[in-house]
Amino acid sequence: EAKRNGRNCLAFFKPEMETAALKRHEVEMDLRQAIMFQQLQLHYQPIMDVSHVRIVGREALMRWQHPVKGLIMPIDFIPIAEETGLIHELGAFTLHEACVEAMRWDDHETVAVNLSASQFTNGALVSLVESALTQSGLPARRLELEITESVLLANSAANLNTLNRLKALGVKVALDDFGTGYSSLGYLRSFEFDKIKIDKSFTQDVESSKEALAIIRAINGIGRSLDIPTTAEGVETTEQLDRLTQEGCSHFQGYLLGRPVSHDTPSDESV
Ligand code: C2E
Ligand code: MG
Ligand code: MG
Ligand code: MG
Repeated sequence: EAKRNGRNCLAFFKPEMETAALKRHEVEMDLRQAIMFQQLQLHYQPIMDVSHVRIVGREALMRWQHPVKGLIMPIDFIPIAEETGLIHELGAFTLHEACVEAMRWDDHETVAVNLSASQFTNGALVSLVESALTQSGLPARRLELEITESVLLANSAANLNTLNRLKALGVKVALDDFGTGYSSLGYLRSFEFDKIKIDKSFTQDVESSKEALAIIRAINGIGRSLDIPTTAEGVETTEQLDRLTQEGCSHFQGYLLGRPVSHDTPSDESV
């Protein structure tokens, strides 16, 4: 009986596990090539102020232009890059590229770069940011690093120290996807964030869910009290935009205001 179960287990689980492992390995090999052959690129999505027309900055979002598979989105390769350690190479590329690109924009515009928690495990993050700024000539105040609470959750003392050193360089730090994950309000006490980004799952339900609205109100209330501006992510309709403006969000980002675009082909992600 036990033996039969065991065999069933093997028959059922093993091929699946092998497939997953193989796929992971394939993506890993491919990703190494991607770095070598410059298949990774950044798209930039505008972030607007309350006037809804003035661009205050842009968020850099990574894309992988695969020679066979076409355009691959971050959800399909960032987690593998994190597990394999390739995220350090991807992260270095992103920081340098984004700072160089931002030098071509108006002097008031910031560039936001996403950082993975795993990028904090490498002691080189602070010097990496420093060298991206020095080599591009971008003033530190124009670089905004977006982190999620996972950075403060894992290895918090060391990561907090890294965050403070980054802040000492003069760069800004935004708390991304706020309201999802563990969202301990305590994180807002342990570090002085320059911006809070309200996750798009709340933005998109602002009209239909009283819970989503209550959470947005709470986040904006904290932001106001602590003098931290909030950005509503994922704004897709004028109704959402109006509502979120009424609710006191200071910045807005979403397909309604502009899709992520590469600087040379401005319409590649449009529907
Ligand atoms: P994120 O930092 O929260 O970025 C916002 C995501 O929402 C982006 O997805 C963006 O394309 C999408 N978005 C923007 N406006 C709208 C909208 O109106 N509606 C909808 N449905 N979506 C909208 P994307 O580009 O697929 O990136 C997903 C996540 O991957 C990012 O979430 C970020 O966590 C991560 N990521 C992207 N680029 C990088 C990178 O260079 N480094 C690292 N470590 N992570 C990155
Ligand atoms: Mg982000
Ligand atoms: Mg976000
Ligand atoms: Mg998000």
